[in-house]
Amino acid sequence: MTNNVIRVLAFGAHPDDCDSKLGGMAIKYARAGHRVKFVAVTNGDTGHHEMGGGPLARRRYEEAQRAAQVAGIEYEVLDIHNGQLLPTLENRWLLVHIIRAFEPDLVVTHRPNDYHPDHRYTSQLVQDAAYTVTVPNVAALTPHLPANPVIAYMSDGFQKPYPFTPDVAVDIGDVIEQKLDMLDCHVSQFYEWIPYNQGIPEQVPQDTVERREWLRQQRAPSYARVADHYRDLLVKWYGPEQAAQIRYAEALEACEYGAPLTESNIPVLFPFFREAI
Ligand SMILES: [Zn+2]
Repeated sequence: MTNNVIRVLAFGAHPDDCDSKLGGMAIKYARAGHRVKFVAVTNGDTGHHEMGGGPLARRRYEEAQRAAQVAGIEYEVLDIHNGQLLPTLENRWLLVHIIRAFEPDLVVTHRPNDYHPDHRYTSQLVQDAAYTVTVPNVAALTPHLPANPVIAYMSDGFQKPYPFTPDVAVDIGDVIEQKLDMLDCHVSQFYEWIPYNQGIPEQVPQDTVERREWLRQQRAPSYARVADHYRDLLVKWYGPEQAAQIRYAEALEACEYGAPLTESNIPVLFPFFREAI
């Protein structure tokens, strides 16, 4: 960490994954002067029922860039086909290069057990790049990192082999509207593809203001569930009084292959509850 600027690098499989699970924290980091980069490991070119290929990849790239502007972060989209990501050596080296170039203090990704192969392989690739980023003779012409960064997983609802078990939960109530504004940028997803895939396309209002309100009704409850589900963790980091007031949260679980997430480095890496401790 240089000049107290925390560097957060998040790998999602698709251009909207990190926004959904880490958008609130990203906004909070950026507002506090820290640096956040989201990487979509695939270009999302099959994530729609009516359009696909190059036009969809370019549309989703633009959506990701608009979301990045809302949050004040960087957003890179790798040009790998949606649904075709594999944990190859080439992709491992690609992630090693990206991690080394960004020099993150914290790397975030999916958990390895997930319904979507792109999510699983993104997680696998980040796990495979962990430690490797510190090995000088791997990609020897790219300066290696002096130490393994902390690696953490975004939340999900999968129960097997074990449910998401977070180590940190952060209040995002102060940025929930901006987070929803990030999601609002992904028109192809939240107003078109996902409702179609869920069999509810007729529920989406045509009017842009009304559909933004619909988006809030659709999405905000899941962030309220994170706060409710992991209230004990919020109490631990914010104290009981403050924690009781928290409506929306995001949570992260440490990955064992990164540097450990400890009682002493959590308040440094997540400078959001410092006043409360
Ligand atoms: Zn995804």
